[in-house]
Amino acid sequence: MAKLDWSILNDSQKLWVRILTSRYLKRSNFLDCIPNPKSSTIWRDILKGREILKKGMIMGVGDGCHISLWYHHWVGECPIYLMPNFEIPNFIAHWRVVDIIRQGNWYLDDIIHLIPDSLADVILSIPLSTTHVLEDFLKWRSITNGNFSIKTAYGISSNITTPRSRVNCWKSLWKINAPLKYKMLLWNCFSEILPVGTVLGQKIEGFSPLCARCLDNNEDHLHLFRDCPSSFSFWCSVITKTNTVFNERHIFFLGSWQEWIGFNMKQSDLWRTTFAVGCWHIWIMRNKAVFDGKMLHPSFVFNRFYVDYCLTNVTFQTNLAKPLIQSQLALWRPAQPGAYKLNIDGSWKDVAKAGGGRLIRRDNGTWFMGFSSKYRSFFPLAAELQALRDVLLLAKCFQLTNIEVETDAKSILIMLDNAEKNSKHDLIVLISEVLQLLKLNWSITIAHIKRDANQVAHCLAHYAHLMDADHVTHQGVPDCARKAYDNDLMNVPQSSSAAATQ
Ligand SMILES: [Zn+2]
Repeated sequence: MAKLDWSILNDSQKLWVRILTSRYLKRSNFLDCIPNPKSSTIWRDILKGREILKKGMIMGVGDGCHISLWYHHWVGECPIYLMPNFEIPNFIAHWRVVDIIRQGNWYLDDIIHLIPDSLADVILSIPLSTTHVLEDFLKWRSITNGNFSIKTAYGISSNITTPRSRVNCWKSLWKINAPLKYKMLLWNCFSEILPVGTVLGQKIEGFSPLCARCLDNNEDHLHLFRDCPSSFSFWCSVITKTNTVFNERHIFFLGSWQEWIGFNMKQSDLWRTTFAVGCWHIWIMRNKAVFDGKMLHPSFVFNRFYVDYCLTNVTFQTNLAKPLIQSQLALWRPAQPGAYKLNIDGSWKDVAKAGGGRLIRRDNGTWFMGFSSKYRSFFPLAAELQALRDVLLLAKCFQLTNIEVETDAKSILIMLDNAEKNSKHDLIVLISEVLQLLKLNWSITIAHIKRDANQVAHCLAHYAHLMDADHVTHQGVPDCARKAYDNDLMNVPQSSSAAATQ
């Protein structure tokens, strides 16, 4: 139920959310709405799920305009007003988080005497955007990407509710080698809690339970995933084209929902992954029909499935001896003619001891500008992202239009590539600011390089721990990076290095 509750708060455009909220919420707020004994069972169950949500939810700071500084839970273990012996001075009781932000930085002077030092440290480590406005958002606090997770909700709820377990396949489910989103969908399938036609039809007066794809049968879980003609022909392609042989093949299209799930979960690891990916694509096909009125051809769905199936199997089945993204450069190389090379690195020891190094070099390898900065951050990745954001701001400031950025933190690139999935990540403010900067009108590449090729940036980041000031600009090569810089210059081709060493 907490999953449905999460959707009500975060997916307001979903049809079933619109139907339920327009019927039951009217003008009240979902989190504060009082259960009415006359409401339907599903709605009363959904309201019960709020207890888990309230325990696991926290506000993520975007621009801070919609978060009450004291009364909302956005930092620490509870809303600040609930902390022991805490009293809010009347004249600032109405403050929002935005009131302690000035020009993209935390400004705690007005409240520092009211809160414990440890809390101030945590606040200072929450990343803020300096250029890009992001709205405040709700996130799930047990995991850093901020998206709702059944597993953590289950942990939180263990003393509140007992989830239904109709199919005894949970262990096989969590062991499937596939991304979490596929397993989440299967989890919902197993529990028969997806908002399919028959479920909504029972709960919502006048709602047609008919399948939107074939308009021939009521849409229950079994019809949706197996028996609808488009699902049937999809599975036939999958079984044939992946050369899958079942011991009892005829069973695949037989049996009740429970038997069908049980049958599939008893098959090989490979088939269970295939099954999870297949169900996902059927669900997408079905949603296209329901929400966009578009009927995708089963062969089109199969082609999409097949790409996803191959990727999932390569990523999750092969052992990690062969990484997907090969590290390319072990040696630093200058930028293409006419471009600038930007190297960044983060260095992290603890919350108060994080730093970033960034430098810009010309296409002949010579020093353009370097910087060391102290950062506050709870994750090493935050320091890397801040260094990336800051170097892009610098490049913009110097009006460089052709730049090549290099980092040895592959996770940054993966995170930027998957920004959509990370929309509730603790670092989303930095991620979206970087993405905005990348979209500026300039020629830019970002590459992952080996650590050895990033030594100068590494030295500058390390230097941040030793300096007194928060930021130091290195107009020329600083002593701390001299050796690494000279080493890099040796990799510059002769013709341009002649100019560099003069
Ligand atoms: Zn159908």
